[in-house]
Amino acid sequence: MQGRAPARATRLAPARRAKLGRSSVLALLFALLAAAAAAQAGLDPALPLTHVDHGPNSAWAEQQHYVVLVSLDGLRWDYARRDHATHLLALGREGVWAPEGMLPSYPSLTFPNHLTMVTGLYPEHHGIVGNHFYDPARKAHFSMSDAEDVADGSWYGGVPIWSLAESKGMRTACLLWPGSEAEIAGERPTWYAHFDEKAQASAAAEQARIDDAAALLRLPAEERPHFIAIYYSEPDHEGHEHGPDAPETRAAVLKMDALVGKLKAALDATGLPIDLVVVSDHGMAKSEGDWITLDQFADFKGFETDGALLYAESEDDRARAYEELKRVSSQFMVYRLKNVPAELHSNANARAGDPVIVATGPYAIRARAPADGGGKPELGMHGFDPRLVPEMKASFFAEGPDLVAGKTVAPFENVNLYPWMTRMLGLTAPKNDGSLNILSGTLRDGGGEAEK
Ligand code: AMP
Ligand code: ZN
Ligand code: ZN
Repeated sequence: MQGRAPARATRLAPARRAKLGRSSVLALLFALLAAAAAAQAGLDPALPLTHVDHGPNSAWAEQQHYVVLVSLDGLRWDYARRDHATHLLALGREGVWAPEGMLPSYPSLTFPNHLTMVTGLYPEHHGIVGNHFYDPARKAHFSMSDAEDVADGSWYGGVPIWSLAESKGMRTACLLWPGSEAEIAGERPTWYAHFDEKAQASAAAEQARIDDAAALLRLPAEERPHFIAIYYSEPDHEGHEHGPDAPETRAAVLKMDALVGKLKAALDATGLPIDLVVVSDHGMAKSEGDWITLDQFADFKGFETDGALLYAESEDDRARAYEELKRVSSQFMVYRLKNVPAELHSNANARAGDPVIVATGPYAIRARAPADGGGKPELGMHGFDPRLVPEMKASFFAEGPDLVAGKTVAPFENVNLYPWMTRMLGLTAPKNDGSLNILSGTLRDGGGEAEK
């Protein structure tokens, strides 16, 4: 069953919804419309959820297990043990855990890695190569802070697991997962929410994600989503502001741990066969030194820049900038795009710029200083190569009926989550950069029943 009937709430075009986000009156209207659509579908969600009527689960989909994927932004690989996060550690003990962490894809930033985890593609293949970047072919910048950009599916490549599931007649829900407000690979989740930076950070909105996940799983079997993705912006925010070792960051880790405990209890109470997967997108390092501003070494006249990304009109300019930046500092390497080391999987997409700067440590690098100087770098930073800055490593815990208990796994690249989660749902993954071999030893009996 692949019903594609548009729902009431989706009549709001992405561009229009973007403007709603900026105006509180219209944002309220959006919330009311979303609530009305949700109520129509038999749900009274705590978050303003948009419902897209895709029809019921197919008979095959109804028989499959459930996967709830939770991301805790910036939960460094070692935080749970360091801060005695009892719920996360119990999840790992009763299921699967990567005690030495999971390797984020480069760059270790939020948007690239959230898209990688749900598509199995390195950022250069799904196209979201940064939180902010320029596309030389489109002659346009993407910014995760721009509500229109994040909801515009034309920026995104790959087949997110929710799009794959929906295309096979399996219903899904995304509660603030980056990219889930866009139509990607021709599909949207049946349920999704609009990201509002301030609103989502309240204690009520944090609890709402748990209440909504539980409510969605209490829907009749034909409507229940089999895949639910949940995003939380902590402990990343505190980690940036106060540094990874600060009491505020530790408190945020324990707050998120308590929410994981509540979610687990709510999922257990449904009695459904649910695999709970808790990950993070990257870690956090204490930043060192002041800004390194690249235009003190090179002339960027005629360049587009975005952060430390450099885009020139001509080959001459690229070659000249490369020569000017080469060997000026031990704090960064400079490569022509095609020569970026293979292990970074970042040498083929023009959105990454050319030449490419790779920091050798936790250093704040930018092409140009903003007019107001931009202030000091944040105390906590990420985005670096996890092979050079191991604090970039992310977290991975998972437990459920499809997973063996008490299993630990060595650090693995996060592209491998996709073939593994699709297997748990019985879906056949399209071609991707991951491999099921990496995590297959954690699966109890090979996963779900393959789709017909
Ligand atoms: P980062 O510093 O790379 O960890 O980015 C974290 C930030 O990403 C959060 O503080 C939010 O501002 C932003 N963010 C997270 N999820 C979303 C989303 N779904 N839509 C837009 N921005 C988001
Ligand atoms: Zn992040
Ligand atoms: Zn961050």
